[in-house]
Amino acid sequence: MSSSKLDFVETANDLTPSTVPLTKLPLFQPRLSITREEAFEISYQRAQVLNRHYRLTIEDIINLTPRFFDMHRDDIIIRDIGSHALLSIQHNLAAGTLAPYAKESPQVEQLLERVLKFEVSAAFMLTEVGHGLDAKNLETEVRLQPDGSFILHTPRPDAAKFVPPSMPIAGLPRIAVVMAKLMVNGEDFGIRPVVVALSDGFQMCKGVTSRNLSLMPYMGGIQSPYAITSFDQVALPPTAVLGSMEKPADMRANFFHQISRVAPGTLAMSMIMIPALRIVTYITGKYSLRRTVGVANKERIPIITFRTQHQPILLALAQLAVMTPFADQCIKWFKDTTSFSPEVRHGFAVILKAVFIQMAQRSIPELVERCGAQGLFQHNQICDADNMVRACAISEGDALVVSIRLAVELCLGKYEMPKATMPDCLLAKYEAGLADDAWETVSSIPDDERWREFNRLLIPRCRPIVQGIGHRMVYETAVSAGVDADLLALYELGAIKENLDWYIEKGLLTRAKFRHMENKALDSLEPRLGDLLDQLNMDEYVTAPIIEQSMFDEFVQSLPKFTGNAEFPLLVS
Ligand SMILES: Cc1cc2nc3c(=O)[nH]c(=O)nc-3n(C[C@H](O)[C@H](O)[C@H](O)COP(=O)(O)OP(=O)(O)OC[C@H]3O[C@@H](n4cnc5c(N)ncnc54)[C@H](O)[C@@H]3O)c2cc1C
Repeated sequence: MSSSKLDFVETANDLTPSTVPLTKLPLFQPRLSITREEAFEISYQRAQVLNRHYRLTIEDIINLTPRFFDMHRDDIIIRDIGSHALLSIQHNLAAGTLAPYAKESPQVEQLLERVLKFEVSAAFMLTEVGHGLDAKNLETEVRLQPDGSFILHTPRPDAAKFVPPSMPIAGLPRIAVVMAKLMVNGEDFGIRPVVVALSDGFQMCKGVTSRNLSLMPYMGGIQSPYAITSFDQVALPPTAVLGSMEKPADMRANFFHQISRVAPGTLAMSMIMIPALRIVTYITGKYSLRRTVGVANKERIPIITFRTQHQPILLALAQLAVMTPFADQCIKWFKDTTSFSPEVRHGFAVILKAVFIQMAQRSIPELVERCGAQGLFQHNQICDADNMVRACAISEGDALVVSIRLAVELCLGKYEMPKATMPDCLLAKYEAGLADDAWETVSSIPDDERWREFNRLLIPRCRPIVQGIGHRMVYETAVSAGVDADLLALYELGAIKENLDWYIEKGLLTRAKFRHMENKALDSLEPRLGDLLDQLNMDEYVTAPIIEQSMFDEFVQSLPKFTGNAEFPLLVS
C-alpha cells in the first residue's frame, strides 16, 4: 500500500491535538431540549468533526499508535458518548477488520479510505439477537453462488444482527462489516467478514431491514440509534466476502482470528472509564466545595467537610492517579508481540477492563448520589454515567465473561501473566492467596466432573481472581511511575477494602488497624482536595451548572418561566 491514498503517515507519531477548541464550537454545546432523532443526527455530525480532528490513519489503526488510544480517553468523550462509540466502532472494528484486506483488493482499499474519512458510517455486526456471548454459533449465512457471487441471508429472526445502528440518519450512507457463516455447497466453512451496504443515507438498501430499537424503547448509557438488522437474500459481488475461501483447519481459531479487532476494543473502550470518572469526580468535588449546610451553631459549612463526602471523592482521585499509568503500561504490553503470546496480550486487556470497570462501578454511582437530586439532572452531565459504565462493561467483551475465560485458562496453566515484582505487598499477597485457593480447587476436581464442578466451584471466583491480579499490577505500575505516595496509599486501601474480610481471615489486618490506616490516608489528602481537583484540568469540558454559583444562577435564569395573575380561592367558608 506504499503509494496508496491511505498513507497519511505524517500524522502517525504526532502528538494528539487537544480537543479543548472543539468544546467551544456551537456543535458541541449541550442540547437538552431536542428530540432523540435530532440528538442522533448531531452525534453523527460531532463524530465527523472529531474524525477530522484526530485524522486517524491506517497506521494508527494497525499499529495501535498513541493517537488511537488518546481518542479513547479524551475528556471530550463525555460531551457525547454516542458519537464517540460511533468513532470507535468505525475505526477499531470496521476499519481494523477491513485493513488487512486492503493490500490485495483495490475495492476494499477505496472503501477503507471512505471509512477513515467518515464519508460513510461503518458498523461491525457480530452479535445476533440469539447469539451474544456465544457469537461463535452465529447463524447469518453468506452463500457462495456458482458464479462466484454471494447471497447474504438471515435464516430466522434470532439470527438478526443486534444493536449496531443501521437505519438512515443524517443523510450519511451506511455500510457494515457483517460476520456471517460462509456456506459452500451447503457446508459451513466458518465465519468471514462480509462487506454490505445498508443504506444510501436516505433509504435502506434492497433486502436490508432495520428495526429501530432506540427511537422508541431506550437504551440507557450510550445513546445511539441502535437497531435489529436482518438480510433477506441480499445479492453481493465476489469481492464482498473477505479472506480465504478455504475451509479452516481449526474453526475456533478461525472465529477468534476473524474477530481479532475485539481485543484492542476491549482495551480501548475500557479507557473511557478515565474521562468518565474524571468528570464525575470533578463535578462532585466542585459541588461539594460550593454547597453548604447549616449546622447546630448556625454557621454554614460546605458539605465537603463531611468525611462521607470527601472520602469517595478522594478515593476517586486516588484511582484516577493510578489509572493513566496503568493504561499506558497495558498499551505497551498489549503491543509487545516479542515478549508476550497473543493470549497474554489479550489477558492485559481483560485485566485492565476488569479493574477499570470495578473502580468506575464502585466510585461513579456513589459520587452521583453525593450530588443529591442535582446529580440526577441531565444538564449536570453525570446522571447517565453509571449506565454508561454498564454499557462499556458489556460491549467489546462482557467484563464478567472475559474474566472467566482468562481466569480458567490461567488456572489450567495454559499460560501465565507476569508475576508479582513486589510479592510482599498486601495486594500481591491477596492475588497469590486467591491463586493458591483456585489451584487447590482445580486439582481436586476429577476429569469426568470437570465442567460441572468448574461451574460450581471455580467460575464464581474468576472475576475476583482477575481483579486481584489487576490491582496488584496497577499498584506495581503506579510505584514504578512515581505516583504521589498519599494517593497511592489511598488507592491501595480502597482495593484492600473490597476484600477486607480476606485480609482479616489471613491475620494480615484487623478492622481497627484498617480504619486507622484509612483515616490517616484521608487526613493527609483532605487539605489537598481542592488542588487535586484543579489538577484534573476539566474546566473546559464541564458545562454542569452545579459546579459554580454563577453558572447555576445563569442556568436558572435561562429556564422557561411561568408567571400570571390568577386568583384561586382556598379555604373560604
Ligand atoms: C453499548 C453497546 C454497543 C454494542 N455495539 C455492538 C456492535 O457494534 N456490534 C456488535 O456486534 N455487538 C455490539 N454490542 C453487543 C455486545 O457485543 C453484546 O451485548 C455482548 O456480546 C453480550 O451479548 P448479549 O448482550 O447477547 O448477552 P448474553 O449473551 O445474553 O449474556 C448475558 C449474560 O449471560 C451470562 N453469560 C453468557 N455467557 C456466559 C458464559 N460463557 N459464562 C458465564 N456467564 C455467561 C453473563 O452474565 C452475561 O452477562 C453492543 C452492546 C452494547 C451494550
